[in-house]
Amino acid sequence: MKNYPKLQQAYDFNHFEKQGKDLISQLSKHLRNSQLNNAQSNNWLEPKDELSFWQNYQFKNTTTFVDDLLQHSIHLHNPKYMGHQVSVPAPLSALTNLISGLLNNGMAVYEMGQAGTAIERVVVELFCQTLGYDYKANGVMTSGGTLANLTALLAARQAIKDTDVWQQGCQQKLAVLVSDQAHYSIDRAARVMGLGNDGVILVPTKDDFSMDIDAMKKSYQDTIDAGFKVIAIVGSACSTATGIYDDLTAIGRFCQQQKTWFHVDGAHGGAAIFSSKYKKLLKGIEAADSVIIDTHKMMLTPALSTVVLFKDKKSGSQTFHQKAQYLFEDNAIEEQWYNGGLRTFECTKLMMCLKFYILWKTYGVEVFEENVDCLYGLGETFAELVNQHKDFELALNPQSNIVCFRYLKEGCNEQQLNELNKKIRQKLLEDSEFYIVQTVLNETHYLRVTLMNPMTTEVHLHSLLKKISLFT
Ligand SMILES: *Cc1c(COP(=O)(O)O)cnc(C)c1O
Repeated sequence: MKNYPKLQQAYDFNHFEKQGKDLISQLSKHLRNSQLNNAQSNNWLEPKDELSFWQNYQFKNTTTFVDDLLQHSIHLHNPKYMGHQVSVPAPLSALTNLISGLLNNGMAVYEMGQAGTAIERVVVELFCQTLGYDYKANGVMTSGGTLANLTALLAARQAIKDTDVWQQGCQQKLAVLVSDQAHYSIDRAARVMGLGNDGVILVPTKDDFSMDIDAMKKSYQDTIDAGFKVIAIVGSACSTATGIYDDLTAIGRFCQQQKTWFHVDGAHGGAAIFSSKYKKLLKGIEAADSVIIDTHKMMLTPALSTVVLFKDKKSGSQTFHQKAQYLFEDNAIEEQWYNGGLRTFECTKLMMCLKFYILWKTYGVEVFEENVDCLYGLGETFAELVNQHKDFELALNPQSNIVCFRYLKEGCNEQQLNELNKKIRQKLLEDSEFYIVQTVLNETHYLRVTLMNPMTTEVHLHSLLKKISLFT
């Protein structure tokens, strides 16, 4: 390396130590500042202005770059952040990103990621046990819920008896049933799998936005009658827009009768298996053939980190049958749990299990229970505040930390109310003190909070409503 001065600099560990210490101080200060009363949760710029900022950016050094980056980012640790469903990372968990980034042990084959492979197994086993699966269960971790849903649906497709799409291609019409409130990643996975428009059957939801079970049974029959094979019925736990849980017991029972794969998308709300208080929302989940849970949503870890759990580990291991002889010695895939690449879509995969493992071992598994209890409790508190306020109404009673509500104004018709609430949300975005999002339910425009930050209190929730009132 002697003749390459830049490379020498790039690998200098003394330099790294200094940079690292400075960075940790800077980020700690950022965490402290995020709590201040006058802190902004974001700094909104139109896309073209943000682009031009970075196009014209004069890079000085790491410290000023990090400052500028912070200035141009959303601050999840600010208690007034109530936006999308990503966790407010526990700082310790974020540190493990540094470790796995530095070690860069890709986990496709055991030799390249020994510790990560074994720790992932330990983490997955904890999830299986907590969920209520028995010794036959197992799973893998994937980079995010979208990929996890695809992985589970691929396993479901592979489990169909008289067809092997993996080897022979798609030779019959296949379909997936899912509620019209489901996350779009299910629809996308089905389309990636070649199911097309007709293969994604959207089951209507009831007034409470959970899947209508009678409608599901009818859709199933109609789909079979139309000559399709149903790969899977998917329950949402909970759905993204409203945070409502489908009746998993009823879906599971029907799937069992029909011998159809039952998949639960628990990306957000699956974490409630860790809560004595809220696990009732997931009643029946143990009957699912597959379940996914993001740890980067309700489990304090940074993205990306998701578990895909299979009730029967065989189904998980038969999904990716493709042979790569140079990597794997024989095809006894189930036995080779330690060669993760056989069972995942991904080849090189970072040690994402560390993010969860470090929190579990440092704070105990109770930390995940506390997080669910705290955040779902905040959802209830906010719903009460909205109910008490004459100028606001809830879209529905929340079951989780996702709450949809809107501002009301006397004399406005529905269309004007939609416009008004859309405007409120844009104003909040530009104002940048609070960060909340929005959704449309049955053509009505709602404001939407996801209470992801355990540092949010009733006081913050009050001042959000107050701010909105003052806007209008
Ligand atoms: C967030 C979410 C997903 C997608 O997960 P990513 O980790 O963002 O890819 C899927 N399903 C539901 C219900 C979700 O809330």
